Amino acid sequence: MPAPNIDTIVSLAKRRGFVFPSSEVYGGLGSAWDYGPLGVELCNNVKQAWWRWIVYDRDDIEGIDSSIILNRLVWQYSGHEATFHDPLVDCRECKSRLRADKIEIPEDAKTTPVAELIEQKRLKCPNCGSNDLTEPRDFNMMFRTTIGAAAAEEDPTALGYLRPETAQGIFINFLNVQTAMRRKIPFGIAQIGKSFRNEITPGNFILRTREFEQMEMEYFVRPDAEHLNLVDEWVDQYLEWFRGLGISDENLKRREVPAEELAHYSKRTVDIMYRYFPERAEEERQWEELMGIAYRTDFDLRSHSSKAVDIEGMRINPDSTEDLSYFDETTKQRFYPHVIEPAAGVNRTVLALLLDAYSEKTNDKGETRVILKLSPRLAPIKAAILPLAKNKPEIVGMAKAIKRSLQPQLRAVYDDTGGIGKLYARQDEIGTPFCVTVDHQSLEDEAVTVRDRDTWEQERVKVSDLAEHLQKRLKE
Ligand code: ATP
Repeated sequence: MPAPNIDTIVSLAKRRGFVFPSSEVYGGLGSAWDYGPLGVELCNNVKQAWWRWIVYDRDDIEGIDSSIILNRLVWQYSGHEATFHDPLVDCRECKSRLRADKIEIPEDAKTTPVAELIEQKRLKCPNCGSNDLTEPRDFNMMFRTTIGAAAAEEDPTALGYLRPETAQGIFINFLNVQTAMRRKIPFGIAQIGKSFRNEITPGNFILRTREFEQMEMEYFVRPDAEHLNLVDEWVDQYLEWFRGLGISDENLKRREVPAEELAHYSKRTVDIMYRYFPERAEEERQWEELMGIAYRTDFDLRSHSSKAVDIEGMRINPDSTEDLSYFDETTKQRFYPHVIEPAAGVNRTVLALLLDAYSEKTNDKGETRVILKLSPRLAPIKAAILPLAKNKPEIVGMAKAIKRSLQPQLRAVYDDTGGIGKLYARQDEIGTPFCVTVDHQSLEDEAVTVRDRDTWEQERVKVSDLAEHLQKRLKE
């Protein structure tokens, strides 16, 4: 049973230290969130799981970490300055700013352009219900900044952007990585990092924010590869990966992005959708994008290359100093590799994991307890060491010593801030797979009780075997 809605997770996340509203002491900042002690562990575990899977477990992918602020020309030639827009609409009545393509369209008008529907007064503001909306206009979502101490506010030579995707840092380093690591096509380059988009309508907790983290990989292949099949292959691999993280299959689905919605660089995109809104009656409205897999062709490498020309033989890029083409030693051909890009969000993955892991169980006193059934390898804390009597120095001392001895191998905490029932409940709610209880008997038999989060079953384990026992069970 997943969480009934995102609000349930928002309150758990704040109460238990996963995610806090940002800048709260100044009244907050719209749709900005801070990750607390448990949230940062969960994010790190997701990123680590991805990096292991995509970089270490394979032989054909390298990792990098590029700058967030790049030369402005990168965004000019990538097409983001000209086309990274969302259609913005204002409601004249309540003054709210809306994304035109996210306003609900009447059932019988699905194919009519939004601008026409607004003119016909057939679209309603979701906030106040008014149909008095302005014509849609393009709004560039890149965050602008000025670079350098002496730069004047509007100096175009000092204009820079916070990156809206990590991908461009990969494309401009394609030759560096290929040459330094002596790579042959096909191979990929992966990167994890923050991206920034000045979203018109952020919201739904960490689903859509202006600052977020991406896990992107560009996979470079020959121009004559079976590109469309490769997209499907990566979709399958990612679905498998998400299932392996513990996300249930019925909350995942694929969506072929229609041609009119494709980004300027994409020939085909398939999104993996997650059921973020199970409470919505209409099945179609329960889903939102978790990640996308795009076939970007040779668009980016070509755009950033000094030698590439258009069909009239004109240089596409007079500013670049490098040709990002690839020379194939075996066929003696030179070409611009094509790219398949799986792009996933750390924050959307974390939200899907929290929603999916949420469950409730009734104890023998008839009380409802929340259990966060996170996969043990993602759980922020692997074991909580709890003394049964906090006023007994020998028990406390033994529990603290066990915590210290486990810590180098797995994330463990010591807690004596409540009765044992309360301590168990707290650990269940944050997804800790094992509680280790030290009691009076432990002082004599050098053994502890290990309690399982999901079954609440307990077993007695020798302290000398504890680390190995937990390590083994964490891998189950
Ligand atoms: P959407 O259609 O939801 O705006 P997108 O198609 O523009 O997303 P991509 O450009 O494909 O998103 O970005 C890849 C991934 O980065 C997304 O699937 C998502 O996981 C994440 N992402 C994109 N924008 C945001 C955001 N504003 N907040 C959180 N994560 C985001």
